Amino acid sequence: MKQFQSDLLVWYDKKARVLPWRSEPTPYRVWISEMMLQQTRVDTVIPYFMRFLTELPTIQDLAEVEEDKLLKLWQGLGYYNRALNLKKAAQIIVSKFAAQLPSEKEELVSLPGIGPYSAGAIASIAFGKAVPAVDGNVLRILSRLLASKEDITNTKIKKELEEIVTLLVPAERPGDFNQALMDLGATICLPNGEPQCTECPVQTHCKAYKEELTSDIPVKSVKKARAIDKKTVFVIIAEGKFALRKRDEGGLLPNLWEFPNVDGYLTQKQSEQLLQEMGITLKQIQPIKMSKHIFSHREWHMKGYFVEGEVLSSSNFTWATEEEIRHQYSIPTAFKAFMKYCQNE
Ligand code: SF4
Repeated sequence: MKQFQSDLLVWYDKKARVLPWRSEPTPYRVWISEMMLQQTRVDTVIPYFMRFLTELPTIQDLAEVEEDKLLKLWQGLGYYNRALNLKKAAQIIVSKFAAQLPSEKEELVSLPGIGPYSAGAIASIAFGKAVPAVDGNVLRILSRLLASKEDITNTKIKKELEEIVTLLVPAERPGDFNQALMDLGATICLPNGEPQCTECPVQTHCKAYKEELTSDIPVKSVKKARAIDKKTVFVIIAEGKFALRKRDEGGLLPNLWEFPNVDGYLTQKQSEQLLQEMGITLKQIQPIKMSKHIFSHREWHMKGYFVEGEVLSSSNFTWATEEEIRHQYSIPTAFKAFMKYCQNE
């Protein structure tokens, strides 16, 4: 075990990825980076992280930020609940923990949006606690090291592997050890049967390598197919402004802005009728290109119409110029294909 820890840390000292939150691993910076990195690639996160820290440099700033500004800072990162949970957690940290992130894993998991993996990462990297941070990458590495053919999506197996990682984390440099595992999973022990074993610092400890099983491990049960939602989206312009509405607080993409849309595919005739009911007098309506957006568990398949109209006083939308849409309103990436129609010309 000691040899494994040492081989990994020696490699990390030479090859660690240079990342902005690593140069100054304060609890706040580590927390923000870990939240942004959930489900999102490192390259994508870096500019968001820099901008976020410039706009909201302290936990107090985050606790007090206006929701629209927060969502705008997050626009394009997806999984917007992460941003809303950050603010909720910051408010709790200010009121319960004197504006300092708690250092114990158990306290960290009590905060909104922080699960066992993120709590382990924050506690070990920012506070030097010898606790594991086990995500899918670490499960993949460990199942290969052990040549385990058990299904790593199975809760019982996951728990067993987590217990083994807990034993592996050294009392000295636990944060570096966890980050070394993260880097190994991101750069060497790659998924989909493509590990770079010849460059691996822990190859001599790896049973899957010895037994030539690296492309068969990890074993994962087949994922369920994503649910498909069909939608009809309307890009409506009237008097030089575009119609927007705010999404509900619960559910997918909470509190973000969107183009008016309905479930199902509507024909042009059905759309015309619906728009009249919404309070829009039509001047012109044209179909626009189909678009698809993939979330982790569902897909939106969207047909659309570009609509020129006059607004009746009963219309319930918020009306925004192209400029305001770009700078003020956070519209999720799911509607990106429709954004290009938001030009007054
Ligand atoms: Fe992964 Fe290959 Fe290293 Fe084993 S030897 S841990 S499979 S990269």
